[in-house]
Amino acid sequence: MSNQNATPSSVPLLDVNRGNQLLRNEILESIAEVVDSGRFLHGPQVGELECTVAGICQTKQAIACASGSDALLLALMALDIQHGDEVIVPSFTFFATASAVSRLGAIPVFVDIDPLTYNISPDEIAANVTSRTKAIIPVHLFGQCAAMDKIEAIAKRHNIFVIEDAAQAIGAAYLGRPAGAWGDIGCLSFYPTKNLGGMGDGGMMVCNDAEMAAKLRLFASHGMQPRYYHKVVGINSRLDTIQAAILNVKIAHLQSYSQARQRNANRYAELFAAEGLDQWIELPHHAPEATHVWNQYGIRVTNGLRDPLRKHLNDTKIGNEVYYPVPLHLQECFEDLGYSLGCLPKTEKASKEILHLPIYPDLTEREQDAVVASLKKFYSSATLRRAA
Ligand SMILES: *Cc1c(COP(=O)(O)O)cnc(C)c1O
Repeated sequence: MSNQNATPSSVPLLDVNRGNQLLRNEILESIAEVVDSGRFLHGPQVGELECTVAGICQTKQAIACASGSDALLLALMALDIQHGDEVIVPSFTFFATASAVSRLGAIPVFVDIDPLTYNISPDEIAANVTSRTKAIIPVHLFGQCAAMDKIEAIAKRHNIFVIEDAAQAIGAAYLGRPAGAWGDIGCLSFYPTKNLGGMGDGGMMVCNDAEMAAKLRLFASHGMQPRYYHKVVGINSRLDTIQAAILNVKIAHLQSYSQARQRNANRYAELFAAEGLDQWIELPHHAPEATHVWNQYGIRVTNGLRDPLRKHLNDTKIGNEVYYPVPLHLQECFEDLGYSLGCLPKTEKASKEILHLPIYPDLTEREQDAVVASLKKFYSSATLRRAA
């Protein structure tokens, strides 16, 4: 028998099995239904999921596709982003935000972040708009929306599109308006580590315009309409019926998952303050305008102590990760764009100082206590070393 009060010997960064095991029978039944129906693509479960996601995002339209990466690519295709067009993106994000732009021969223009939220800075966007700018892709990093009111105003002023990369932010909101509902198109991901994680790849695009939705569907199905007549050069990007069936089971619990993540974030803040650790590490900043869904919990570790702290956490078997250690403007594949070290100082600093801790919904209080205890141990010995 396991002891709920025992100190755990290790804490995983994420354990997808805990949440999924609770729904095991329901999920297996939903899969069996698809197996028996034989409708492995375009089954009714896909439309059901689209409706539920449109409801969560408060958009009129939702279009399923094969992944969050495809959602971004399809959004750019449907907005007719062409070779040589400029698209403003953060550098402090997952690769897919920028690779979708490059795939179309367009130019990702990397801009710096607000160092508090790690989200793209509206001022930096405004400073980088040119006559060739066609779109902005704000990323709602770690589950907190970018400053969408300001970004929307810039986009309107210059008549450019906004594609929200909401891969990490389903259920989040800014000024009460959901992630995905601000831009021309919102892109979601159901990758297993996201807040609504599937059992494989999956993605969704949301928007309000029926014509745009039809275009997104067209591009996601080989540009084919009617059958074997191709209007545009699209791609093949579908969400499997089985994946939709699984997600339909899980999406009923999304709100409780988000609430558990919020509870864990609040408890970290209390524990860090109680232990005096908040004088050493910067806790994540929660903007008052944002409804944060905490896909990740990132602390900022200054004084060059991030990597020594990582080693200590690894040694004490506390799961941790760095999102993201190499900003996109410094990636080898983007060398031709001409960026160098020093171009985006706030992004570069964040990539050296940020450190992510376990925050997933099923994290227990004992596990959280173990994370905080490990941090405390590190800082008491670090303080002693400095005093010596
Ligand atoms: C996960 C992620 C994506 C890509 O989603 P996939 O479903 O893995 O293709 C894009 N952007 C961001 C910010 C992400 O976190």
